[in-house]
Amino acid sequence: MTVRIPEELARLHRLVSWFEVPRRLPAAALAGEACVWCADPADAVAVELVPSAVLPRLACLRCYLSRLAWYITWYDWHAHVEVCAACQRRRICHVGHGRRVLHERTALPIDKKPRCVACPAPLLATELVAPVRWEGSSRFHLGYAHLRCVTERLSA
Ligand SMILES: [Zn+2]
Ligand SMILES: [Zn+2]
Ligand SMILES: [Zn+2]
Repeated sequence: MTVRIPEELARLHRLVSWFEVPRRLPAAALAGEACVWCADPADAVAVELVPSAVLPRLACLRCYLSRLAWYITWYDWHAHVEVCAACQRRRICHVGHGRRVLHERTALPIDKKPRCVACPAPLLATELVAPVRWEGSSRFHLGYAHLRCVTERLSA
């Protein structure tokens, strides 16, 4: 984990809270008594998501950390690609690949299906892939693209 400052952790906490909570929640989760993801009863180490209304939105530590890990590893990978000459030139880079592998491991337990933003083909382990951030109609998205599908500079 490479989160170095409290502000960064607070930002990631907001992203997990805003973007990862399901739209439809069971009654116990709406009542602030169960995890919003697995619906297990909230315990003493449950994490309070933001914004919490009258009734808190809670997450069990296991569900919360597995989603936080997805964001942390995505940003670690992205931060590397932005400053790495080899990645920018679309050459094979073992550091970049290592960060991709670490990130992809975090996607499995939370059922995220990595796909290319530009084409429908799957992201194969043998292909060069970059993390990309793009603006949607109401929010930004974090995702991936095959390097062959990216036309501009990667950090665009
Ligand atoms: Zn849970
Ligand atoms: Zn690199
Ligand atoms: Zn593609």
